Amino acid sequence: IHISEFDLAELLEQSRLLVHAEAIEANVRIRSELPGDLPMVRANRIQIAQVLVNLLRNAIEAIAEANSPIREITIRGTARNGMIEVRIEDTGPGISPEINLFTKFETTKKTGMGLGLSICRSMIDANDGKMWLDETYTQGARFCFTVPAAGGDG
Ligand code: ADP
Ligand code: MG
Repeated sequence: IHISEFDLAELLEQSRLLVHAEAIEANVRIRSELPGDLPMVRANRIQIAQVLVNLLRNAIEAIAEANSPIREITIRGTARNGMIEVRIEDTGPGISPEINLFTKFETTKKTGMGLGLSICRSMIDANDGKMWLDETYTQGARFCFTVPAAGGDG
């Protein structure tokens, strides 16, 4: 896969544009809280964009489906140990206990395929990162992933 160095905030902005209509329709605000001094990411840009779009779309759908009173997605980032950790938090209902996240064809949606998270995790793995759900987060769902930072030893 093609690896390049890119600015995460810029990629997030482009990913946000791709889900803009859905966010407006569902009355969901997407806030970036990425620090201004975050290092560049070193990864496959297209795949990381697909991961962001998938996670944003899931978050919008969760908020809309539950008709949450607060309708917000927040993206945070932290650089540590040569990696950048990205966290996507939403104000939806959180994860249904019966669902096996990251497993193919697991869905709670009438028209869902249940492939999004499984594909996201494969793409993050392919970029030498990790992806997980933060089980300690209780205000909604918080999905996290890491990607290599530029200038590391990767
Ligand atoms: P799909 O979106 O097609 O259902 P995914 O793999 O993207 O497939 O997600 C699988 C399931 O995980 C969803 O059906 C939903 O139950 C749950 N899920 C994913 N993201 C969220 C979220 N942000 N909030 C609540 N549940 C979620
Ligand atoms: Mg999905």
